[in-house]
Amino acid sequence: MKDILSPNLLISEFNKIASIAQKKAFITIASEIQKEEIETLETYRNNLLELKRKYIEHGLSDEANLAFCLDLSLQSVQYELQMLINIKEDDMSEAWSNLVKAQVTYGSVVRNCPYESISANGYITRLEWYEKLLFPEMMFASVGGIVKKSHCSICNESYNKCNHIKGKLYNGEICTRVITEMELEEVSLVDVPANKQCRVLTTTYNGKTVDSLTLREVKKTNEK
Ligand SMILES: [Zn+2]
Repeated sequence: MKDILSPNLLISEFNKIASIAQKKAFITIASEIQKEEIETLETYRNNLLELKRKYIEHGLSDEANLAFCLDLSLQSVQYELQMLINIKEDDMSEAWSNLVKAQVTYGSVVRNCPYESISANGYITRLEWYEKLLFPEMMFASVGGIVKKSHCSICNESYNKCNHIKGKLYNGEICTRVITEMELEEVSLVDVPANKQCRVLTTTYNGKTVDSLTLREVKKTNEK
């Protein structure tokens, strides 16, 4: 198996790539340089997926999970870079969306990565700082209901029948509960939501309906 990278070599290679990318994750860095970095990360992530496939072929499940966590880590940095570009391009709604994607993606790494140097490096705190410093406080919607039908993304069995646990890694894949049928019971407003993408988009300010992120007036006629 001399053609397969060992986990230690892989981690040291990853650290180099991640540290170059993180040097570019500041709002002052030129957008075109950040866009280029997103592409560079994309290329490396494709190599990681290739490597993950090889690990799986050789039955190296821990190594496959590691490759998956490193891939998610770099994807989070891509979202972070994209968020900074969005802010500079005055696209605040996308900026918020990309920050949430970065947080959710890295959350999976924190829950699953057995290597502390990867999961406990303070990156999740950095993402929380962005949220507190760059965005106003928001209200969110939370959907409550009864799940009628759902299955496991790993084995496709009905979710309650298999032993896989949602959010956990199995052979380089994350288990999710795929809900295909749900009875909606209520929608409530909350400040700590399960899904930060479900936010209240507009608010009233000086008697006008405005975008909750920019305070720009939302013209009703433009609404679709
Ligand atoms: Zn399952």
